[in-house]
Amino acid sequence: MNNVTIIGTGPAGLTAAIYTARAGLEPVIYTGIQHGGQLTTTTEVENYPGFADPIMGPKLMEDMTEQAKRVGAKVLYREISKVDFSSNPLRLWNDDNELIESKTVIIATGATAKTLGLPDEHKLMGRGLSTCATCDGFFYKNKKVLVVGGGDSAMEEALYLAKLCKELVLVHRRKEFRASLIMLERARKSGKITFMSPFTVATLLHDQRGLTGAVLENTQTGETQELVCDGIFYAIGHKPNSEIFAPYVDRDKNGYILVTEFAKTRTPGVFAAGDIADPVFRQAITAAGLGCQAGIQATKYIEEHHES
Ligand code: NAP
Repeated sequence: MNNVTIIGTGPAGLTAAIYTARAGLEPVIYTGIQHGGQLTTTTEVENYPGFADPIMGPKLMEDMTEQAKRVGAKVLYREISKVDFSSNPLRLWNDDNELIESKTVIIATGATAKTLGLPDEHKLMGRGLSTCATCDGFFYKNKKVLVVGGGDSAMEEALYLAKLCKELVLVHRRKEFRASLIMLERARKSGKITFMSPFTVATLLHDQRGLTGAVLENTQTGETQELVCDGIFYAIGHKPNSEIFAPYVDRDKNGYILVTEFAKTRTPGVFAAGDIADPVFRQAITAAGLGCQAGIQATKYIEEHHES
């Protein structure tokens, strides 16, 4: 039986692994399909403390994985597809339907930024296309960018980017906006944001170096127009990867896991950390901090419940 099973290898899962491994608990960490999480789709990371020079997102995650392994975590490149937390030992099944039993589980499966599903999106991520203004906005200083979306995130991203960029266009598929009035007003009053609605991005234009612009389509008339730009930021929402845990944890209306007392879910021995439990900050450093909390909580749980 595992002492600690960690699901997800973003900064939250790997930090939880480092802490529980150093506590002698030999954690087993399942990477899922995106080993390293969202940081593996970014380029230079400049806001993770400890690196005087920028570090590439994939390199940071590779190093974090090596660090976790060095202190004793076992990393399995498998997915967890089913769980049953109705009794302890907690039970999980991998993608080969093999049963895993564990004293504690740390859910660190993260959230996935929604994308439009256009051709070439994957290869343009980090090369003109982004889903995080706080992470990548700096690279578009004095450049022209598009933000896609009509909710609070889109307004927030647009306001953040408006301070950095030379020109900013917000593209939304409807005339009406989902964003709260206060956020919408703030964006309108900034004076730096051009609103294009009802428009959608129909095609991403690019050359060998990366994104060069987009073809926008009017969703009412079907008319199209080409727009040259240096970057496009999708802000059309995130989907927390919490579905299989739904019977055993409380979730908010958007599917984020609700935690109490630092990383505890409503099921004893099951903890959640990182973006899966954080709809607000969603930064690598906050995920790492939450992973640390979950790791320490799992250690305490084992001390209190499984050791005489
Ligand atoms: P959201 O409220 O779900 O808005 C997503 C936006 O993206 C909507 O305008 C939606 O258009 C658009 N969209 C979705 N799929 C699309 C597609 N395939 N093509 C084009 N457009 C698409 O998500 P969010 O803005 O990330 O906010 C999530 C939650 O966090 C909300 O409750 C929000 O209030 C909260 N939040 C609050 C703040 C704040 O208060 N400071 C900041 C950020 C987020 P439609 O409107 O046409 O559906």
